[in-house]
Amino acid sequence: MTITNNYLTHNRPYTKRAKTTAIAVHWVGNPGTSAINNRNYFQTTDRSVSSNYIVGLQGEVICCIPDAEMSWCTNQANSYTVSIETCHPDWTGAFGSRTYASLVELTGQLCKKYGLNPQKGGVIRHYDVTGKVCPKWFVPASKGGSDTADGAHWKKFLSDVAAAMGIGNAAVSKPASTNTLRYDWKQGQAVRLYKTKTQLFSSDTAAKASGTLPAGTYYIYDGKQCKLGRFRITTRKEYCGKTPAGKYVTGYVSVDNFREI
Ligand SMILES: [Zn+2]
Repeated sequence: MTITNNYLTHNRPYTKRAKTTAIAVHWVGNPGTSAINNRNYFQTTDRSVSSNYIVGLQGEVICCIPDAEMSWCTNQANSYTVSIETCHPDWTGAFGSRTYASLVELTGQLCKKYGLNPQKGGVIRHYDVTGKVCPKWFVPASKGGSDTADGAHWKKFLSDVAAAMGIGNAAVSKPASTNTLRYDWKQGQAVRLYKTKTQLFSSDTAAKASGTLPAGTYYIYDGKQCKLGRFRITTRKEYCGKTPAGKYVTGYVSVDNFREI
């Protein structure tokens, strides 16, 4: 999945959200239109509409507004959600396989970034906020959508996102596009944190980072994958596996920050 930044200058409030408690998923409701078509619509329309991301028909992803900022997409939830609009070929609202794979990967990445669990309210539909039939594929037919009565499409999507993050039901098939993420890190293995500031968490479930770590070499403390795709790391190889863990573990870091050495 490649994300292209093509930021709006119109329909962009330039307001940073104070908190992010969910990722909100949408359909564009305009069959056959591409990600760039919809991005350009946001840039030019007189209506107050925009989105942080758009996933296109070929799986392409455009970031229209940086995800730390608010977009005008999900009504009263704009102040606490990152929004994703999704393209679709026809009025059923079904997503093509490439679109779906990118949507799963992008949603998983954002859940990790903001410490959200997709199967515990961390991913929502526009429908959950206002009752709007959006995204149609994930809203039950009895409510005007294309999903089954028990929400099979929506549940499968949430479990696919969880699987892409390395959490949830492992029996769910992983989308091929997530193969670049590795979860098989072993105790004592050296990894490189490549960002200048990597979020550090005090536990495997903490939603808020306790601080950041500078780029550099760190070591996998015990090779045990924790919740939200996090691993415990330490600053020195000889600390690995030593107890009490609290004395030797630097903290929990999400696996997508690791690079091989
Ligand atoms: Zn919507």
